[in-house]
Amino acid sequence: MQAPALFLFDDSENFQGVFISPELWEKIEPHVRPHLPSRQADQPEPEPTERLQDWDMLTQYWDFNYPVNYEVECGHCGESTSNWREDEPRKFLMTSAGLGGQVTFHCRACKSRIIKKHFKDKITSETQPHKETKDPKLNAVYHGNRAHFT
Ligand SMILES: [Zn+2]
Repeated sequence: MQAPALFLFDDSENFQGVFISPELWEKIEPHVRPHLPSRQADQPEPEPTERLQDWDMLTQYWDFNYPVNYEVECGHCGESTSNWREDEPRKFLMTSAGLGGQVTFHCRACKSRIIKKHFKDKITSETQPHKETKDPKLNAVYHGNRAHFT
């Protein structure tokens, strides 16, 4: 019978990793999966998912001195809409909505984050341009400490 795990060393006896059998992998995969990178670096970032149920909740308890407002404007690339729900295809994705009136959108054109804040009598909007989160030197984050390749 094949050993369930092989410990791999290079010529200088440096520990390189562990090779495990498919049977063992099947058992431990659920525990290991959260620690593995969720996607390959060369794959495009997935688009955020919408939280329409949060939006519905906000509109249900709409407590502002103006009607529900569907306008979104990206302060970064200039994309805009008078009704984000009706664009075909959609220009903006609604990524979060809080009962306090803060709603965030994802601009599909430039990936900026648009934060609309609803106050009693006014709405403010601010745009945070998308930052490339992929740091080429960033290897991994361990307990908040960033480990870099040298
Ligand atoms: Zn934009």
